[in-house]
Amino acid sequence: MKKTFLLLMAALMMTSAAWCQAQERRVVWITIDGLRWQEVYGGADSLLVGNQDFVSDPAATRSRYMRASEQERRELLMPFVWSTVSGTGWMAGNRRAGCMMNVTNKFHFSYPGYSEALCGYADDERITSNKPVPNPNETVLEVINRDPRYRGQVLCFAGWDCFPAILNAERSGLEVNAAQCHSLSPHPTATERLLDTLLDETIVQFQGERDDAFTFHYALEAMRSRHPQVLYVALCDVDEYAHHGSYDGYLDAIHRVDNFIGQLWNAAQADPFYRDRTTFIVTCDHGRGDNAGNPREWRSHSNRYKHSDETWLLTFGAGIPARGMLTSGQYYTCQIAHTVAKILNVPYAPQHPGTRPAITF
Ligand SMILES: [Zn+2]
Repeated sequence: MKKTFLLLMAALMMTSAAWCQAQERRVVWITIDGLRWQEVYGGADSLLVGNQDFVSDPAATRSRYMRASEQERRELLMPFVWSTVSGTGWMAGNRRAGCMMNVTNKFHFSYPGYSEALCGYADDERITSNKPVPNPNETVLEVINRDPRYRGQVLCFAGWDCFPAILNAERSGLEVNAAQCHSLSPHPTATERLLDTLLDETIVQFQGERDDAFTFHYALEAMRSRHPQVLYVALCDVDEYAHHGSYDGYLDAIHRVDNFIGQLWNAAQADPFYRDRTTFIVTCDHGRGDNAGNPREWRSHSNRYKHSDETWLLTFGAGIPARGMLTSGQYYTCQIAHTVAKILNVPYAPQHPGTRPAITF
């Protein structure tokens, strides 16, 4: 009798452990600096691919990215997004289709945009420049990392050297691997040691930043070797090529980022720790100018350039309904922090004006 009781208890414990595990959610949150909704949903811009001011080899760029229809062009530019996310996920911000998304901060450049997304509100009084001033506000990642269920389980990888300030690494205790930082793993793998060497031996192309390939591979390797429950990956090349006026470089950087997203998704689905319990969030920090009025405006963004407040969001994976590309609704970048907290079941209620609730999918 006693043996039967013990067996029954053991079975019950195993079932509840399996149930708890099934409830556990992981999040992979990827930000792509300055990628416009116009390219996400429309592919290469026909007015820019042939413009010699912005493209070194118009014929080659046209053959790589130009097709007759918008659908073909976007599939060519972001094949993972348009083969996988569009069929299984939720996609906001295609203004031509009728769905809007905007930042609520008044600046329309990076630090205010990231802070808004990560904190859940705009702080136009204190976050007013891209200077690496430690963020006085708590990000949702800091709050998640303080939760006993996620302590030490949030890893951040970023191309731009401002991220330790945006995430206030010193106060938050978040592990933030940014710019020229080597792997922060207590036990670096052979791959991480090789990445450290290559990072030292690669010429810095954009001041204060490293190539997205480094950020991506550090993140991928940490995902495999350390299994963070929350992985934050901030990529920066797309914005840089735009500022430098290289539309072909901008398109190539987008195409490469699409591949990175696909690789992270495939790595998650191949690993029982992440498979079918991971939600992917992919977004940007701001829009940029449109070329309709002035063909140079796509290069820049700020409140002096119309459309720079226009953003977008893709989400897919665990818990996300397959609604595909939305054709109505108005969403805000400040809703993302609340949405991530809700997915992870972490209470998050910052007392700040302008905060908006989590997105209901
Ligand atoms: Zn920029």
